[in-house]
Amino acid sequence: MYDLLLSGGEVVLPTGIARVDVAVTGGIIAEIGDLRGESARRTVDVDGTWVVPGLIDPHLHIADVATATGARAVDDFTSATIAAALSGVTTVIDFAYPVAGQLPPAYLAERRAEADGRTVLDYNLHVVVDMLDEGTLAALGALPALGCRSFKAFMHRGGMANPATLYQLMRRAAELDMLVMVHAENKEMLEASRGADTLTAATFAASRPPISESLATVQAIHLAKAARCPLYVVHVTEQGSLTAIREARQRGQAVWGEATSHHLGLTEAAYQREDGALFLCAPPLRSAADQTALWAALADGTLQSVCSDHCGYGRDLKQAQPDQSIEQIPPGIAGLQTSMSLILSDGVLQGRMPLTRFVEIASTNPARIFGLYPQKGVIAPGSDADLCVIAPHAQWVVDPADLYVPWGWNPFAGRVLQARPVLVIARGEVLVEAGRFVGASGGGRYLHCGAPRAPLFQGKVHAPVIQ
Ligand SMILES: [Zn+2]
Repeated sequence: MYDLLLSGGEVVLPTGIARVDVAVTGGIIAEIGDLRGESARRTVDVDGTWVVPGLIDPHLHIADVATATGARAVDDFTSATIAAALSGVTTVIDFAYPVAGQLPPAYLAERRAEADGRTVLDYNLHVVVDMLDEGTLAALGALPALGCRSFKAFMHRGGMANPATLYQLMRRAAELDMLVMVHAENKEMLEASRGADTLTAATFAASRPPISESLATVQAIHLAKAARCPLYVVHVTEQGSLTAIREARQRGQAVWGEATSHHLGLTEAAYQREDGALFLCAPPLRSAADQTALWAALADGTLQSVCSDHCGYGRDLKQAQPDQSIEQIPPGIAGLQTSMSLILSDGVLQGRMPLTRFVEIASTNPARIFGLYPQKGVIAPGSDADLCVIAPHAQWVVDPADLYVPWGWNPFAGRVLQARPVLVIARGEVLVEAGRFVGASGGGRYLHCGAPRAPLFQGKVHAPVIQ
């Protein structure tokens, strides 16, 4: 007898979409096929829905602390992972940030201590590195055995703004079979674009122009090529970077890129709103032309994955008086609970990409790139029973009053979305049912990631793996 049987949905399998049943036992996918007549402790009729592998959010900032001011987000590992589960996500990859006087394995352990036993979802951590000395370089060697395979470098501040230092990190990553993720904005270009006037929401986008991102992306691509290290560009937002990534891939380089739900769902017009300060984020929201290019890049394989880049700052912290400098406002957008529905709705249901491509960018590819495949990212016998059941045509209006939003706001408030996760299952456990969280807290586990693997495009491996 199976533990759980999902019967009659349109299931997205590696071979395409099929109307099959999915059986779960012991938290693992046991069987896929025509299972009518088989018995299970619980059978759910999912006729009329899409059944996809549990979504993976590879970039979010849980319990974030603002670098400039020390302001604190209101969420924690429990509330943020509940919000993610409600969005159809079953795995998150957060960050371990540098702590003064600690080597990376120590601050990774500290961040794990904050998360372990508190997440409702399985999770892993990228290790942020902001300076390198001999001791740090040596200590990085301990990370693969600790299950960590990805570094993050911020190119617009700290030690990694120096290309020689970033190059050293990439060389070390290549030795360790790890991946380097970059926040690509050029520090000097940002400083030059800042201007002398008081910065307001209305002038924010111009203070972080697309050229600063293009320059940093091109620089990171060249450094990664020389270091023979796979590169993952987080939150790509503009056409210059897309062109650079596309051309590097055409030359055979392992360069992968990601788009956020807020850059896909909003444009810089949001900064002109009365509540424009809510939408401060780096890189900023861009033009409608950049937004169109991002959607095309996800569909044509230039970009490989999507994320929420969520930061759970409360609404009060994100507000400024008119004409007041916005310098003290913590950047970041709290869109965790709607990020995947937005991408499904605007992406798949508006015809920008097929459902199978959505599954690649929102589940299979992050699993592959971050070394979690095939435990995660695929509906196949033996994989973790992480499943997201979506009511594809359920129209709903985003209203923060109806949502689980500890931070008190949602960037897509008032928008009509079409798709909604109705049943979310993580390792066989039902976490979300009829759109409500019904799971137990603390059921998530720390995942040990393996080496990066090339992502898929339209069901095929999108080589190269490593240049
Ligand atoms: Zn981020």
